[in-house]
Amino acid sequence: MLGWHRAVLGDRLALRDVRLLGNPPSGSMMRYKLLLVAALATATPLYPQSSTRPPDWVALGNETVRTMSDYLKINTTNPPGNELEGALFLKRILEREGFEVQILDTAELGKGRGNLYARLKGNGSKRAIALVHHIDVVPSDTRYWTVDPFSGVIKDGYLYGRGALDMKGDGIVHLMAMLALKRSGVPLTRDIVFIANTDEELASTGALVFVDRHPDLLKDVEFLFTEGGGNPIRDGKLEYYGVGVAEKRTFWQHLTVKGTPSHGSRPTKQNPVPRLVRALNRIANYETPLHVTPGVQKYFQDISRNFTGERRAWLADVRAAIANPGARAWLTSDLYWNAILRNTISLTVLNGSNKTNVIPAEATAEIDIRLLPDQDVARVLADLERIVDDTAVKWRTILQPKVPLENPTDTDLFRAIERAARERDPNALVTTPMLTGATDRPTYRKLGIITYGISPFKVPVEDGQKGVHGNDERISIENIGFGVKFLYDVLRYAQ
Ligand SMILES: [Zn+2]
Repeated sequence: MLGWHRAVLGDRLALRDVRLLGNPPSGSMMRYKLLLVAALATATPLYPQSSTRPPDWVALGNETVRTMSDYLKINTTNPPGNELEGALFLKRILEREGFEVQILDTAELGKGRGNLYARLKGNGSKRAIALVHHIDVVPSDTRYWTVDPFSGVIKDGYLYGRGALDMKGDGIVHLMAMLALKRSGVPLTRDIVFIANTDEELASTGALVFVDRHPDLLKDVEFLFTEGGGNPIRDGKLEYYGVGVAEKRTFWQHLTVKGTPSHGSRPTKQNPVPRLVRALNRIANYETPLHVTPGVQKYFQDISRNFTGERRAWLADVRAAIANPGARAWLTSDLYWNAILRNTISLTVLNGSNKTNVIPAEATAEIDIRLLPDQDVARVLADLERIVDDTAVKWRTILQPKVPLENPTDTDLFRAIERAARERDPNALVTTPMLTGATDRPTYRKLGIITYGISPFKVPVEDGQKGVHGNDERISIENIGFGVKFLYDVLRYAQ
């Protein structure tokens, strides 16, 4: 997902020996089969019609691991993307299973690129559910990986590879859950639409072109899900099932101050660098107001049950709590909570002179602004210009925010997720954390589709923080088995 990129790349692991691993030894194969058996050993739910055959979960789990490993071996690093090879891999599997598959937009997206579309038919009495993933992955710095990022290797109960978490792993779980529904003959009221798209990690052209050129293929889609949710494990315990209903809006600005170039030995008021630094200092010291959106309010209220005393009371009514200085200090001391309670601004790019003894003709900076979904863009910019209060500073928008993303929770799909979660854990908390990064969801939301961020995996927070766009991205074998069965149930219950 775009937007995590810079933050996570900053968190590099120490340099380790790079060991290239081939096929897993048979002992590790055995171990992952045992892990799958453990992951799948939950009660098999009842099937309503005798014509349906419940999947053989162990066999399906093994098939999912193999398929995911093969998909991770295809290098779809963006740039250049090379997503077409990934799309053709998926096409071969889908066609073998009797699907009609379309590879789309190859001319519009350029060489080696393309979107994939397929559909499992239901009886059409309800509107469709679309499963969307992106085929591209971010670059990997092999110096910091302990395995080859494109070996699809299984080691110590984990499948390693760039894209395991973001988000080729999800894509294969989407695929296998859909195949399992077809094979087991579960009666469907809703079609299941499978989409694999291009270029999410850079410019989102895959989703943009798809939505622009093929709204007809999406016109009966009521729900769509893709990345942007997550089920974090903290200290060995599942914190919650997180359904992403909202995300921050990325809004980037470029600042320029012009001056007169001259020699550094004679300081001058025409030096643009101190002028820019003064503006940036004002921005850095500016505290954006706190503001609670509906999804964030629900999220804090939901998680309040994990706390006691006054903290529990603060979280249960976060709108009131932000007026209380003690509560406010505590809430904003958490980086994630702070970022979902306000617009944020990070100063990132800075350019002055490229020589120590030269006063440059101009100084420039870029700032990364992330807006809450309901914010007025023009007003935010006007506020910033007022804070800087210097007409010598010229502002230019380099990335306009996408459509605001906030989705309802009173839906069949949300209830299906809650049901599948509570079957696995009667006390499961299903809540709505806001994503601080950006996904393709707003592009689809434009068509009126309810778009959720849903992850089929329960990922330890350390693995998520290090692996997504970082090093040694991996998913446990146990999780793969869990994910395919979880998603199968969610799709079944949403009928
Ligand atoms: Zn992603």
